[in-house]
Amino acid sequence: MRVDRVTVLPERVDVLITVGGAETLRTSADERVSERAMEMLPGLGRHRCDNNQRRTFADEIGDTEVPHLFEHVVLELMALAGSPRSLRGETVWDFRRDGDGVFRVSLEYDDDLVCLGAIKAAGRVVRYVLDGGKPPDIGAEREDLLALRRVPATSGEPEV
Ligand SMILES: [Zn+2]
Repeated sequence: MRVDRVTVLPERVDVLITVGGAETLRTSADERVSERAMEMLPGLGRHRCDNNQRRTFADEIGDTEVPHLFEHVVLELMALAGSPRSLRGETVWDFRRDGDGVFRVSLEYDDDLVCLGAIKAAGRVVRYVLDGGKPPDIGAEREDLLALRRVPATSGEPEV
């Protein structure tokens, strides 16, 4: 999974992501993917999913597109750094229009730098949940994001 382009708009940040043909497209490829993600960011279990009103992200995480997992990881990291949990994200794709494996992830934000930092950190988290190895230090990631914040925090949950 590669972040190809990040565009900051007044209401949201758009991220263009490519998943290469040989790379993992769905979280169902390996059950450790959702286990690692939930262990690292338990708050993901409480996310609602706008793509399907009746399911929570906890229901989806075991079998969904990796860029959709990325979307929720960004929102969770932002929440840990004080962004409101009411911020929404969306992941869409049209392989015929954009090319195979190209996804468009849109994220609402309160603080643009926190959102951009969370996008970078989420790339590290997703790489770990896909491949294993040394897990990112979420406490340190949160501290780094808090240091970027200029808009006062509204949630600031200490939970990690
Ligand atoms: Zn979702």
